[in-house]
Amino acid sequence: MKYIVVTGGVVSGLGKGVTISSMGRLLQACGLRVTAIKIDPYLNVDAGTMSPFEHGEVFVLDDGGETDLDLGNYERFLNIHLSQDHNITTGKIYRHVILKERRGDYLGKTVQVVPHITNEIQDWIERVAKIPTSEDGKEADVCLVEVGGTVGDIESSVFLEALRQFQFRVGTENFLLSFVSLVPVISEEQKTKPTQHGVKDLRSLGLSPSIIFCRSTEELSEPTKQKISDFCHVPANNVLSVHDVKNIYQVPLLLETQNLHQLLQAQLKFDLKSPDLGNWKTMANNMSSWTDTVQICLIGKYTGLQDSYLSIIKSLRHAAIACEHKLDLQWVEATDLENNVDEAWDKVKKAQGIIVPGGFGNRGFEGKILAAQYCRENKKPYLGVCLGFQAVVVEYCRNVLNLEGANSTEFDESAKHQVVFFMPEIDKTTMGGTMRLGSRVTKFTHPTFDDGSISITKQLYGNKDVIHERHRHRYEVNPEYVDQIHEGGLKLVGRDETGERMEVAELPGHPYYVGAQYHPEFKSRPLAPSPPFHGLLLAATGKLDGYLKSL
Ligand code: GLN
Repeated sequence: MKYIVVTGGVVSGLGKGVTISSMGRLLQACGLRVTAIKIDPYLNVDAGTMSPFEHGEVFVLDDGGETDLDLGNYERFLNIHLSQDHNITTGKIYRHVILKERRGDYLGKTVQVVPHITNEIQDWIERVAKIPTSEDGKEADVCLVEVGGTVGDIESSVFLEALRQFQFRVGTENFLLSFVSLVPVISEEQKTKPTQHGVKDLRSLGLSPSIIFCRSTEELSEPTKQKISDFCHVPANNVLSVHDVKNIYQVPLLLETQNLHQLLQAQLKFDLKSPDLGNWKTMANNMSSWTDTVQICLIGKYTGLQDSYLSIIKSLRHAAIACEHKLDLQWVEATDLENNVDEAWDKVKKAQGIIVPGGFGNRGFEGKILAAQYCRENKKPYLGVCLGFQAVVVEYCRNVLNLEGANSTEFDESAKHQVVFFMPEIDKTTMGGTMRLGSRVTKFTHPTFDDGSISITKQLYGNKDVIHERHRHRYEVNPEYVDQIHEGGLKLVGRDETGERMEVAELPGHPYYVGAQYHPEFKSRPLAPSPPFHGLLLAATGKLDGYLKSL
């Protein structure tokens, strides 16, 4: 196993995740199997209890792991399936060590940060790197290890110390350290000082990077590369320019042109074939020339931080790529719809499609219901995910089935018609990891309608009878209302394996009105869009009928 460790300096939000994923994509194009580990130095055991406002979206894995959104970047770029152990946090490591100490595993020794925590980190990396994550189920050749935060943070220092030791544990020929930095351009001059300081900090910890990725608004000049080389103890060829490009899918191409694969090979000595990025390259190059635009409106409650909806945005983009359209994404705060803010309603009316993503808590739910109602009545393409699905159900019960006071007990515990309610098996007191989480089965149990047509959703999933998607919720459609809703016209086409839990709703006769209790956005890929998102964009661009006929 070869380990490529990536650290970052200067500022966060540099696009370290995209740079690393792109390096992985390039190595895959050279015939290697690649896996990835993300280290988050915070004390939370996982991201499940963190506010999307503070930390961006919580990414959900097949095994129910609630993790940092960077794992989503890896899964999407590298087309791999990670487990919760691929996200290492300080909380997880300490919890593990403390449990061992309580069991008496340390045989009376004083348990210390060095060596016990540092050893635990190294054991963890070595163990998890071997877990197969690619489609073929084979062990990876290369493991990318991203250290979150920036070099110099107090909380990441123990991880850097563990990695310093790790290079000797696995052998220096199996270990490569890289550093992602920022080269700001001030008065047309490319500034190298922040990079110099970042590398100096790293070297003071006994770690010396072999490759430096420089994020910048413009391509790095040769003198800039030379200067970084002089001050940072790397050859100038190993200073790579990761400047802004037209779209993120071009980053692997950018790294290829700078021979990153050969630089890695020179140190890590793996067998490489010459890179073939295939369809990826065509996609990355073609998409900048598309002229048609599709306007989609996202109605949410965390719209102040777009990272809160990262996988939703990515899924819309993947679907827009498949429809060969540029995506024009408009943001609307759900509460603005409740308050009749004209600008917000104008966006909803103008958009070619509406997406209502998941969410928790009262604020904005009524606005989401108004959006669902508007789309139902005006035949506007609509996709509701998780809470957006629950909004569809509540809206239909209130306004079509005339169940006055219908609501979810999440928002009104004494609602007259509790059409969405708390799932019986869910823990009410402990927050972390206690929702219905991860990959679960959905069966298309009611796929044909009175007019003989087949569920659009089922067709979009390639007419499969059974699908697996990822979940994260505490509330569900109340089984007592299911028959009434279904017979009343909102078809509950997909259900779990017991038939008791509703997973997909669809309104026949509407161009596209779909809700899913699960989160399809977590399994979308640039070259394989998630079916419900694909459906939304096909409907929004007027291509859905043609697509379904072509199947
Ligand atoms: N709050 C809702 C529930 O827990 C929806 C969750 C979500 O949208 N992820 O069921």
